[in-house]
Amino acid sequence: MQPFYKTSSVHTHTTFCDGKNTPAEMAQAALEQGLKTLGFSGHIHTPPDTSYCMSVEGTAQYRAEVSRLKQEYAGRLEILCGVEYDPLAGDILPDDYDYVIGSVHAVRGKEDGKLYAVDFTTEEMQNCIMQGFGGDAAAMVREYYEQVVKVAAKKPTILGHFDLVVKTNRNGILFDEQSKWYHDIAQQALDACIEQGVCFEMNTGAIWRGWRTQAYPDDLLLRRMAEKGARLTITADAHEKDALLFGYDECARRAKQAGCKQLLVLTGRGFVAF
Ligand SMILES: [Zn+2]
Ligand SMILES: [Zn+2]
Repeated sequence: MQPFYKTSSVHTHTTFCDGKNTPAEMAQAALEQGLKTLGFSGHIHTPPDTSYCMSVEGTAQYRAEVSRLKQEYAGRLEILCGVEYDPLAGDILPDDYDYVIGSVHAVRGKEDGKLYAVDFTTEEMQNCIMQGFGGDAAAMVREYYEQVVKVAAKKPTILGHFDLVVKTNRNGILFDEQSKWYHDIAQQALDACIEQGVCFEMNTGAIWRGWRTQAYPDDLLLRRMAEKGARLTITADAHEKDALLFGYDECARRAKQAGCKQLLVLTGRGFVAF
């Protein structure tokens, strides 16, 4: 028997967006790994940047395929059809999925009006700070978190990778993550999101892909979540089948150490506390 928090993986991507495996391969692997619930959360179509998301036609095929798999696996594995929303898709949070992960993946430069992916390369983020924000890293960070708070206000089922803005910040090359100014901005945004009652995720995706050594969020933010009784779940942001439960045990350990009293697990009946 695996711990309850390891029976569900709901932040996953497939070949319909930027994942490596098909939904059918993911479902088969989920069953083999002992999951009870598998949620698909393909990247919603975002017209300003289509490099990583589902196409319009692909979205229809994705929904059809996930619904076919729901039937095929009925009674063995609970399959949910979700979506990872990004504000670049437009203002309205979709309401025709089983659940929605709300995430910010890009910021628009205040100076040049250009869109920069916060999770792509360090170089892109250096350009973002220099050209988009006149060299002011704090202004970029503030803009990122303002977008996150706006997404939280739309009440997604899960708020995606809260502090994604640090992803490409290797060795603090973009800004000092331990600085007071950074944590003040992040914590203020965190408090605003907690007020909205959203469920945060501990997301291990960046470890799997070699960007970070720890899951989002960082320990200071995690402790703040624990202190304020924020809702929290564990996800892998899995872009391939072998990553479905990657890093879950370490997340559970960190959550406990930070003082979190409980973790939530998304199932077909909604969140269940563990
Ligand atoms: Zn994401
Ligand atoms: Zn994702």
